[in-house]
Amino acid sequence: MKFNTKTIHGGQEHDPAYGAVMPPIYQTSTYAQTTPGGHKGFEYSRTHNPTRKALENSLASIENGNFGLAFGSGLAAIDAVIKLLKPGDEVISTSDLYGGTYRLFTKIFEDFGIKFHFIGMDNANKVASYVNDNTKLIWIETPTNPMMNIIDIKAVAEISKKHNLLLAVDNTFATPYLQRPLDLGADIVMHSATKYIGGHSDLVMGALIVKNEELAKKLYFIQNASGAVCGPQDSFLALRGIKTLHIRMQRHCENGEAIANYLKNHPKIEKVYWPGFEDHPNHDIAKDQMDGFGGMISFVTKGSDYDSAIKIIENLKIFTLAESLGGVESLAGHPASMTHASIPKKEREKTGVVDSLIRLSVGIEDVDDLIADLEQAIE
Ligand SMILES: *Cc1c(COP(=O)(O)O)cnc(C)c1O
Repeated sequence: MKFNTKTIHGGQEHDPAYGAVMPPIYQTSTYAQTTPGGHKGFEYSRTHNPTRKALENSLASIENGNFGLAFGSGLAAIDAVIKLLKPGDEVISTSDLYGGTYRLFTKIFEDFGIKFHFIGMDNANKVASYVNDNTKLIWIETPTNPMMNIIDIKAVAEISKKHNLLLAVDNTFATPYLQRPLDLGADIVMHSATKYIGGHSDLVMGALIVKNEELAKKLYFIQNASGAVCGPQDSFLALRGIKTLHIRMQRHCENGEAIANYLKNHPKIEKVYWPGFEDHPNHDIAKDQMDGFGGMISFVTKGSDYDSAIKIIENLKIFTLAESLGGVESLAGHPASMTHASIPKKEREKTGVVDSLIRLSVGIEDVDDLIADLEQAIE
C-alpha cells in the first residue's frame, strides 16, 4: 500500500458490530465480561479502547512501524520513552529542542538521576564523542524547532546501532508524509499529534511508533502503568485528521515554499530559515531524507529588535498569533517569549533563538492572501 492509501485504510477494518466505515467513538471506561477474564480483548479503557486501537494501528501503518501507541499529549509520549531508563542512565539530545521537551528532561527527569547531554548535531559524528557506558538513548528532532536545522537520521542511527543505544526521533515537524525515521534506522518515532497529525488545532495528543516487538511491549506496559492515554473522542478526531494528512501536507509544502521565497527576496528581511533553500547548511541531507520541506519557516527582520518583531506579529491579520503549529490555519509565533520561554535566554540564543525571531506555521489557505498579509505586516 502506498502512503496516500495508508492514511485512509492503513491498519483499519470496518467495525465488526455494524460495519461502520469509521470506527465508532467507544465512549466507555469498561467492558462486560461473561466470566472473570471472559472478554473480547478489552477490559478497561486505560489499557485498551477500540477507537484508540484503530488510531494506533493507523499510526503504525503510516510510519512504517509495527506498533503504535497514543497518549494524552506529545509530552506524555516523551515521558513514556524516558521511563524506559533508570537512574544513572545518560541521554544524548539535540540542543535545538522543543522547549517543553527540554523542560521535561531538565526539570523532571534530571531529578530522577538521568543525565542529559544537549549538543548540536548538524555534524552527526559529534554524537559519538558523547557516548559512554551509561548512554542508553539518543533523542533527536529534525527539522528542529524553531531553527529548522536538519539532522542526518541515518548517520545518527549508525552510531546508535554501533553502541547498542535506542534512537528516538521527534517527527512532529516533518510527519511521515515527508520523512519516515524507522526506515532510516530509528527505533522510536514520536509525534505531538496535536500538530500535523490531528491537523485541525482541535486536540492535544501524542504518539509513539516502533517496529520492535520487545520495545513495544515495554512501552505498552508504561502506557498502561503510568496511564497518560488519550480518550476515544480525541482518538476519533486524530484518525479523521490522518485521512487527509497527505493532501494537507502537499499544500503546506507548496505554500511554505512560496512564502519562504517571498521572505528571502524581501528587502526588509535579514534571514529566513527553511530547509528547502539550497544554501541551507544541511539542504543535501534534507533532500535525501525528506520528500519535501514542509510549511514551517522562521525569519528575522533586518536590524530587528524585540519590539519590531512583536509589532509584525501583532499586525498580522490572517496569520493568528498563537502557540502550536500544523493546523490548516496559518499561525505566527514568537519563540523567545512563547514556545521557548522555558529555555534560559543564554541557552536559547546559543542556538539562534534571538528575541527578534518569528516562526510561521504556514497553513493551507490561498497563498496570495498569506503573502499579502505578511506584506502589510512587514511594511
Ligand atoms: C508541540 C510539540 C511537542 C509537545 O507536544 P504536546 O502535544 O504539546 O505535548 C513536542 N515536540 C514538538 C516538536 C512539538 O512541536
